[in-house]
Amino acid sequence: MTGVDRPLPADAVRRLTADPGPWLSCDDCFRLVDRYVEGLLTGGARPMRGELGAMPGHLSGCPACSEEATTLLLLAAAEAGIDPAPALQRLLPD
Ligand SMILES: [Zn+2]
Repeated sequence: MTGVDRPLPADAVRRLTADPGPWLSCDDCFRLVDRYVEGLLTGGARPMRGELGAMPGHLSGCPACSEEATTLLLLAAAEAGIDPAPALQRLLPD
């Protein structure tokens, strides 16, 4: 390691600070999670729009909300008599 501190190129800085689109807080996530889970269970593989489209990004980086959504999905699926597996796969693609 030489430890040279080079400043980031301007375009890298722009990429890092650019608005990545709709951004959700955990509060937003909590507000939307019912609709999101329902969409996963009933909407097939259709991509979701607007705020709901930002849910995967939030969930992939937020274990707390991801766990909340998983619990809700399993409950909702059980209540509706739906196999939760496909929706679960879309909720947690990894
Ligand atoms: Zn969160």
